[in-house]
Amino acid sequence: MTAIVLLGPPGAGKGTVAEVFSEKGYTHISTGELLREEILQETPLGVEAKLRLDDGKFVSDEIVVGMIRNILGKAGAADKFLFDGFPRTLIQAESLDRLLHEFGGRLAEVVQLDCPDELIIKRLSGRRTCTECGTVYHIAYNPPSCADKCDNDACDLQLRSDDAPDTVRKRLGIYKERTAPLIDYYQGKGAIRRVDASLSIEEVRNAVLEGLGT
Ligand SMILES: [Zn+2]
Repeated sequence: MTAIVLLGPPGAGKGTVAEVFSEKGYTHISTGELLREEILQETPLGVEAKLRLDDGKFVSDEIVVGMIRNILGKAGAADKFLFDGFPRTLIQAESLDRLLHEFGGRLAEVVQLDCPDELIIKRLSGRRTCTECGTVYHIAYNPPSCADKCDNDACDLQLRSDDAPDTVRKRLGIYKERTAPLIDYYQGKGAIRRVDASLSIEEVRNAVLEGLGT
């Protein structure tokens, strides 16, 4: 089995890149989604995760690694995975290496999306979210047909506090602090491929495809 790790700050276009990999047969593993599923199904890991989250704590490395172990343990030799939101810590990265080794898989590469902070702030602060159905628009790239109203239900669109410039700066600071050790770790292994995420969606797609050798 083959694994690719996708690293990139919020607003760098990880969704676009994940789509390219999905088209190439990679299963997109988002730890956020996995966690919601485990909690919903009330699995032992899900119950433990919910306790921690209700307590205002981060989900532990053990829980996250446990979820990934369950997936890799069921996978076949031909399976290909794109990890998004995992690993987030050095301990998780080392665990991924061990799991891949245990299940006969390999880490093909780590794709790191590079994007200047100011561009990320510009992208995210242009987002408008429907207060009713949650559809996301962008004032420049994907505007609603009628200003500040949702196309689906004509409800008001708002700038989520998560997307406001000051909050984005804080999120980027936290992201850099958390991922710096990971980037060092993977750089030491020569596994990182950097993709310029400041380019247009089409150019980013092509850069990702080129790296895949297709
Ligand atoms: Zn709506």
